Order: sequence, then structure tokens, then C-alpha cells
Amino acid sequence: MKEKTEFLKREYEQMKKDGLTWTIRGLEGPSKAHVMVDGKECIMLASNNYLDLANHPKLREATIEAVKKYGAGAGSDWSIAGTMDIHQELWDKIAEFKGAEAGMTYQTGFAVNAGLIPQLVGKEDVLISDELNHGSIIDGVRLSKADKMIYSHSDMGELEKCLKAADEKDYRRAIVITDGVFSMDGDIAKMDEIVELAEEYGAMTYVDDAHGEGVLGDGHGIAHEFNLGERIDFEMGTFSKALGGFGGMLAGSEWLIKYAYNTSRSWLLSAAFPPHVAATNIAALELVDEENHRVKHLWELTDYFKKEIESLGYDTGMSETPIIPAMIGDSKKAQELANRLYDEGIFGLAIVFPMVARGKARIRNQMNAGMTKDDLDFILNAYEKLGNELDLI
Ligand SMILES: *Cc1c(COP(=O)(O)O)cnc(C)c1O
Repeated sequence: MKEKTEFLKREYEQMKKDGLTWTIRGLEGPSKAHVMVDGKECIMLASNNYLDLANHPKLREATIEAVKKYGAGAGSDWSIAGTMDIHQELWDKIAEFKGAEAGMTYQTGFAVNAGLIPQLVGKEDVLISDELNHGSIIDGVRLSKADKMIYSHSDMGELEKCLKAADEKDYRRAIVITDGVFSMDGDIAKMDEIVELAEEYGAMTYVDDAHGEGVLGDGHGIAHEFNLGERIDFEMGTFSKALGGFGGMLAGSEWLIKYAYNTSRSWLLSAAFPPHVAATNIAALELVDEENHRVKHLWELTDYFKKEIESLGYDTGMSETPIIPAMIGDSKKAQELANRLYDEGIFGLAIVFPMVARGKARIRNQMNAGMTKDDLDFILNAYEKLGNELDLI
């Protein structure tokens, strides 16, 4: 090993000792409710594939047909020569799906937050952000030259204080940024109150709907859930979760879209995603309505699992969506529980520091519309047995 890069090994080993490294488990075959993981059949509790669309025949078919028609790659950045008609068709579909004037795609959801946020507010502005916002928002915030204010999680009193303070300082622009569904806890932003307060103080609103699309608002996301229509200024999301595809999306006014693709560096300086990805995503948006029973089933599973795991004695924290954590506290214990669940044929993920605060380790259980009630009973039995054995309940 070269001396100048020896730090890689040294620092990795330290992280490992602290229990902060990822063990990457390998899926053999498609992501669905029942998966093969490192040679073992498991029920999937750790994916974001809420509607079980990732391996849906319609998505597979749409993908294959697009490969036949358009080939494998887009050949360029969207900004230069990579925008194909099928990408534009997807942009229109996003607008329709979100009930917005216009829509567009980014390479990923991460690329929306990292690329757009710094363009919306600069030196003379202020950015107000929930403390539990996703890491990609945090990176977008870091890239912005605006002043920053962080409010305690979903604390509307504190949000109002920030807005007031911002108002008194005469900033040029203010923006409130929040996750729609908080990814580690599964609770929902108080979007109606946030929009109300922001309007009162003349601040813009930006919501990250990554875990809301396909889940909230009959599958159409948080703006539909709260009936907010175009009152949310900036709505971004991802195709890589409930929708089973890949890529980031943005919806809003016609001027937002024109502004976004002319200024976001992540968009301008990076390749278009392949045309077959656009085809997959179009099929996914259509399926949310065509097979709306998936959304309903997802919520039936959610209600059942949450009620039953709580009655076993587990704390599910603030959960109100298909993200239903079992709060454990100690990270070593959470990791041990995850390993024991795997032995039972259940793939659940232990979430530890720095993804969540120290002492707040948990197993993040995520529902999948491909599951049955029997699957959940199997999982709940394992939670009961292991909870007693490990002295957790
Ligand atoms: C997953 C996620 C993203 C990133 O989306 P990708 O398309 O996977 O890059 C952004 N924000 C939130 C809240 C997420 O959960």
C-alpha cells in the first residue's frame, strides 16, 4: 500500500471499530417483497420500493421497448444534445402527475437538491430548514451563500420565530425547505401550516417529496395530500422510491423550470439519464392511477404493522407512513437485532449514527405493496421472539 493513501485503510478500520460502516448485502435477482439476499430468501423490509413497481411487468416492458427504439444511452447532457422526445414526454407527465404548470427531470433527486437550492437563494437571502431534513438538502443548503436558520423538527413556533427574524432583517428573499415525509422517522411535515406561515411572511416554500410520491395524496404526493395545489412553490422528488424507476423530478411554474435548467450546475454539467429510464418512469407514473389498489394495500399493511408491532411493546417513534421504525436506542443492539432478523429470513436495516442521532438507533421497517398480511405476521412473530431474547420488549 502506498504511504500517501494509507489513511484510507486506517480511517476505514476506525469506522469499523466504531460500528459505523455499512455491510453491503447483495440482492440476487429483482427487488421485490420476497428477495434473495446473499443466498438466503428474505422478506424485504429495507427497500424504498413501496408500491412494488421496481419489477412490475409494465415497467420491464416499457424499458425493453425503449431500448429497442432509442438504444442504451442519451449520448450527451440534457443541456447539449441529450434531450430526446421521450424525456420531454416524461417532463409533461410529471407536470400532470403533480398538478403543476411544468415539470422536468434531473439525474437524481440528490442532484435536484444539490443543484437547485443554491440557485434559489444567495448572499442577500435566508434559508430556513427543518433540522431533520435529508442529507441532500443539507448539501444543497451548504452550497448556498444564503444565511441559514435551522428550526427544531416540525416545530411551527420556532419556524414562525425564524420567519419573523428573517422579516426584520430585510432579506431580499426567504425560503422554507422541508422533507415531505421524514426518511428516518416516517412522520409527515405539517405542510399546511408551513405553507400558511410562509405565505404570511412572504417566504417561498420548497418540499422534498421523495418518500411521499406513490404514498401520500392517493399516490400523487404531499401537495395532493394537503390539497395545496400550486401554493407550494417548489416540489421535487424522485423516481427511485415508490415509483420503482430512477431519477429526480421537479415540478412548479413554467418559469421555475426554465430557470432551473438554465442555472443548476448538477443538471447542466452531467449526462442525461438514458431514454429507457424515461420510459420506465412514464410507465410508473401511469401505474399509480391504473393500479391505485397498490396505494390502498400499502396503507392497509402500514396500519396493521404499526398497530401490531406497537402492541408487542416496540416504540415506533413519530411514524405515520409506511416507514415504521422500531426504536432500539443502542446501535450495537440495533445491529444485533438486524442480524438476527436476517437469520430468520427478514431483511431489515439497522440505522445508526450518523444517519440518526447517537442513542437513537433503530430498525427502519418499510412496507411494500407486494407483501401480504401473512408476511407481516411472520415478521411480527420474529420481532416478538427476538425482542424477548434480546430483552428489547
Ligand atoms: C432518497 C432521497 C433523495 C435522493 O433521491 P435520489 O433520486 O435517490 O437521489 C432526496 N431526498 C430525500 C428526502 C430522499 O429520501
